[in-house]
Amino acid sequence: MPLRFPRTPCEVSRVSSRYSNAFVASRSFWSRTAPTAAPVLTRPEIYDVVCVGGGPAGLSLLSALRASPKTANLKIALVEGQDLNKSPVQAESTTFSNRCSSLTPGSVNFLNDIGAWDHISATRVQPYQAMQVWDGVSGSSISFDPSTTPSGVPDTVATMTENTNLTSALLARLNKLPSIDIMDKTRVEGIELGKETEDMDLSNWPIVSLNNSRKLAARLLVGADGANSPVRTFAGIPSRGWDYNRHGVVATVQVEGANWGQNGPRTAYQRFLPTGPVALLPLPGNVATLVWSTTPEKAALLKSLSSADFIAMVNAAFRLLPVDLDYLHTMKSGHADEFAWREANTAFNSERIPQKISAVQDGSIASFPLRMRHADTYIGHRVALLGDAAHTIHPLAGQGLNQGLGDAKSLAKHISFSLSVGKDIGSNWALDAYNAEQWSKNNAMLGTVDKLHKLYSAGSGPVVWARSLGLDAVDKLGFLKSFFMRQAAGN
Ligand SMILES: Cc1cc2nc3c(=O)[nH]c(=O)nc-3n(C[C@H](O)[C@H](O)[C@H](O)COP(=O)(O)OP(=O)(O)OC[C@H]3O[C@@H](n4cnc5c(N)ncnc54)[C@H](O)[C@@H]3O)c2cc1C
Repeated sequence: MPLRFPRTPCEVSRVSSRYSNAFVASRSFWSRTAPTAAPVLTRPEIYDVVCVGGGPAGLSLLSALRASPKTANLKIALVEGQDLNKSPVQAESTTFSNRCSSLTPGSVNFLNDIGAWDHISATRVQPYQAMQVWDGVSGSSISFDPSTTPSGVPDTVATMTENTNLTSALLARLNKLPSIDIMDKTRVEGIELGKETEDMDLSNWPIVSLNNSRKLAARLLVGADGANSPVRTFAGIPSRGWDYNRHGVVATVQVEGANWGQNGPRTAYQRFLPTGPVALLPLPGNVATLVWSTTPEKAALLKSLSSADFIAMVNAAFRLLPVDLDYLHTMKSGHADEFAWREANTAFNSERIPQKISAVQDGSIASFPLRMRHADTYIGHRVALLGDAAHTIHPLAGQGLNQGLGDAKSLAKHISFSLSVGKDIGSNWALDAYNAEQWSKNNAMLGTVDKLHKLYSAGSGPVVWARSLGLDAVDKLGFLKSFFMRQAAGN
């Protein structure tokens, strides 16, 4: 007589512990009869939620589930290929990771609500209150000056943080909550549908096979496993989009001057060049993070330069005409001298541009291919996708990680609601609301950012004229500017 599975998650722990015992017994049977052979009879361990991927999206979902009394008792496993304790953030370290993100106030509020922001290393985050954005071809610009709260404090547009600071905070928060089964340094090797056997019915449950021979059965399998998501592949969910043929060059840099931005609002700078935008975003003190989207060939050149030439190229990117910059990209060395000469012969608005950078942190220059992808849906039977597994966006508006946090907030809310009304959390009935809430919102953002990239990739012609008119017009219309500020802030 096959054993049917309980319908409510709270029954899972009781049933699964019975099966865990059976699993141990059968393993010892194999070790007695076949000591040298590989076969291990593995029964799946049963979980309410198996989350593949311990990046910001996965960890924030699990923290949100554990932080809420309604979902705190779910039986949860996290599978992560990397060592989660490999690079804990060091509060006193003077070096900064080159992987940083700007978190919108909406994201920071969510992290506060789930108790994670208290664990952030506060000396390593940097809020900014103003933005300078300009077109490198037409010279038209838009400046987002700080608006102030009723108490006179400048509003925060976004907060810069190293991604490792965020994941360390989320892990620290999880450590304070009822424990989940964390399986890091462990890779998912396969996922298949379960079957009905003599003693249990796991038909249509995803069974996740790990590289340590364990198998996990998931009432709900969460794919927070990044752009190449194995969970998305298992669920057969198509992901559409295109590669931009651009790489995002990142680096941690030192900015000239003792008090960069310390006497006024901290400012983020972004200049649109025909190859893509170059942005300098403030970190604490005189440190900033660079994100320069450019062609793979130019990215390769930038990575090959000496520190002095790289610094000159970054300073040139914010100052020289695109044609001069193109010339510098044809050189293999000597950029520092060439920039010094060209800078002296170029007129630019020094109030709008960042101070020069004076140093680049050793080993911090790297690049990442940029692409746009969107999954057709975020849900399948007993499957939910979130973060980069569901969508990948051009970094020009700093939205990718924020979208992942938005997904985590939404999915945790809908799981909680489903439990409260007795729905099976893996059913489409329970997951539909999550897909409905997030998909179209994210799709609109992906479309806007994609069009901005295309609009600013034109180096000449009527498009340049039209976009400069548009930027100048927006700059003069206060209500439109505040609308854009609110969008950037995630409000
Ligand atoms: C240059 C650049 C700048 C950016 N700047 C910003 C910004 O300013 N603001 C912003 O909001 N976003 C930004 N982003 C985007 C942001 O970095 C990503 O959206 C975010 O890191 C994705 O987080 P995630 O948790 O969804 O995925 P990931 O961080 O990719 O995590 C996925 C995890 O799944 C694990 N995994 C995958 N496969 C397996 C497997 N088979 N078994 C076990 N584990 C597995 C991986 O090890 C990984 O840890 C930027 C991106 C780039 C490239």
